[in-house]
Amino acid sequence: MTEDSLFARCIALGHSPLLNERQIGWSGRWTLMGDFMVCSQCLAAQAIDRAHHPFPHLPDCVAIPHARSPWHELQRLLNQIPPLRGCETEELINSKGASPDGNQAG
Ligand SMILES: [Zn+2]
Repeated sequence: MTEDSLFARCIALGHSPLLNERQIGWSGRWTLMGDFMVCSQCLAAQAIDRAHHPFPHLPDCVAIPHARSPWHELQRLLNQIPPLRGCETEELINSKGASPDGNQAG
């Protein structure tokens, strides 16, 4: 599979009815590095606090027609994660020794 066809496949997966496939499509097009989102095609980066601006692809990037707001695309994907079952969400989040302020206990 060439790099171009791999990118095209990731674009197609982004329209899948399956959440798993949409996530695979997203992760084939973007990489998170610390607080930066990096385009897999042009390697341009955008910090999370710049997410309200269009993504700064390089001028000839093939991804330009497909994505100008990858942070919000990721946000939409994460909002589709199925809810926890069988226990209270807050209880599970705090069950690993984290205090309510996010610090690890002990
Ligand atoms: Zn790009």
